[in-house]
Amino acid sequence: MSDKVFCRGCGKEIHSSAKSCPHCGAVQSTSYGEKNRLVAALLALFLGSLGAHKFYLGRIFQGVMYLLFCWTLIPGVIAFVEFIIYLCTSDEKFAEKYG
Ligand SMILES: [Zn+2]
Repeated sequence: MSDKVFCRGCGKEIHSSAKSCPHCGAVQSTSYGEKNRLVAALLALFLGSLGAHKFYLGRIFQGVMYLLFCWTLIPGVIAFVEFIIYLCTSDEKFAEKYG
């Protein structure tokens, strides 16, 4: 029972490892990346000037740049813009880009 999930598209029971629903073809959450869009957005909002969201998304180099330049406050501004972008991006698009 634990290896069954319900399709996001049609609601039919499918195997939890299925990347897409065999009934309707809807892509399932299991195929999404492990990066959570909301977590990234909140990190960008609260710790954005330190590049926390970049580290979270695996963009280590960019995160280091944020850290190096956090005293200029510019990373904080960029992070706030990214916070809004993350919020406006669909989960699917986000996973495509960062998953
Ligand atoms: Zn389905």
